[in-house]
Amino acid sequence: MSELPYPYEAPVSQALFDRAAAVTPGGVNSPVRAFRAVGGSPRFMVSGSGPYLTDADGREYVDLVCSWGPMILGHGRPEVIAAVQEAVARGTSFGTPGEGEVVLAEEMVARVAPLEQVRLVSSGTEATMSAIRLARGFTRRTKVVKFAGCYHGHVDSLLASAGSGVATFALPDTPGVTGAQAGDTIVLPYNDLDAVRAAFAAHPDEIACVITEASPGNMGVVPPLPGFNQGLKDICRDNGALYVSDEVMTGFRTSRAGWFGVDGVEPDLMTFGKVMGGGFPAAAFGGRADVMAHLAPAGPVYQAGTLSGNPVATAAGLAQLRLLDDAAYATVNAVSQQIQALVSGALTKEGVAHTLQNASNMFSVFFTDRPVRDYDDARAQESYRYTAFFHAMLANGVYLPPSSFESWFVSTAHDEQALQRIADALPAAARAAAEATA
Ligand SMILES: *Cc1c(COP(=O)(O)O)cnc(C)c1O
Repeated sequence: MSELPYPYEAPVSQALFDRAAAVTPGGVNSPVRAFRAVGGSPRFMVSGSGPYLTDADGREYVDLVCSWGPMILGHGRPEVIAAVQEAVARGTSFGTPGEGEVVLAEEMVARVAPLEQVRLVSSGTEATMSAIRLARGFTRRTKVVKFAGCYHGHVDSLLASAGSGVATFALPDTPGVTGAQAGDTIVLPYNDLDAVRAAFAAHPDEIACVITEASPGNMGVVPPLPGFNQGLKDICRDNGALYVSDEVMTGFRTSRAGWFGVDGVEPDLMTFGKVMGGGFPAAAFGGRADVMAHLAPAGPVYQAGTLSGNPVATAAGLAQLRLLDDAAYATVNAVSQQIQALVSGALTKEGVAHTLQNASNMFSVFFTDRPVRDYDDARAQESYRYTAFFHAMLANGVYLPPSSFESWFVSTAHDEQALQRIADALPAAARAAAEATA
């Protein structure tokens, strides 16, 4: 199974992966987990504590993925675990309304000014899918503008030129999405307002919404240029379209109020997931009350979910949000800056061309000396250097995203000891990146 040039020292993970491959396509339940972009076999994790993960072979890693963002307080934070245990003891699902959903929605609405109403769902994919349907139902228009390299979950109409796993595999599109589903999607280069203006000029009164990652993290971290999000908002308003900000990744991570808390641009609709679920499947979409009023049962646009607002998931999410005060964000931001400085220092020392980009505490390293402003820039990096860098870090106990097209994530639990382990692992990894060949 293992075809990579690095020693593979995780026999228990390997055995699990072989069993997994027999019963699950590619051995994983979400493609990027499979290590295909970097080669080798994935580590099967058995436990997490603070900033650390332990794999099935008993090896401990500093975790710089944090479940792709949700674990912003680290693993096994006692207050979150206690809230989950209390909720579980009362029952796990009722299929009725419950107080937990109300309190979580109130907490979100209180934090994010443009969020007047929210509807809870179970995944970020569901959130963006539902937001798009609502935008179409509200405007009675069909077309949707998205940006190349932005990932909004595996929604059929949004898989055109998506980032994340789709970027990893360089799939131009995916089989199974029909021409009709993709045909109403207009894909534009990120950070290019002229392209957006041209699209609206070419399709007058046809575009229901523009959906964008509030600050993209699924082609690596590529923040909006100054004025880009405001420009999107203005163009949408002037043309009767909705501005949909996908904050599934940035929401409650990049600040108390997510990316809205950073740039202050008011979306018509927003989507959330990841951090708001506290490690459980909870997500949401919401925004302007007059738009949300079109959603069933208040309005005609249908949307539903058996496990939406699940009491255990909402308890975990609420407990996590309540711990995310200004001090927590200051800690995560400081940790992020320290790790960025360590990474950049190590790569510079080995003469490796690189660009570190950040959006608040989200960051990623691109192996190029040019700033990365869109998906084409991101794909122009020397990804093979990341492969070498990744495996050297893994071999020395640091778990990075297994793709150069993903954000790195840190938590409040990344303490001095965890940072020291990263610092200790970096010189060899930087050397490996320097010596890597395409
Ligand atoms: C993760 C992500 C999604 C999809 O969320 P899932 O819970 O994986 O379905 C959507 N949009 C963005 C920006 C994301 O980062």
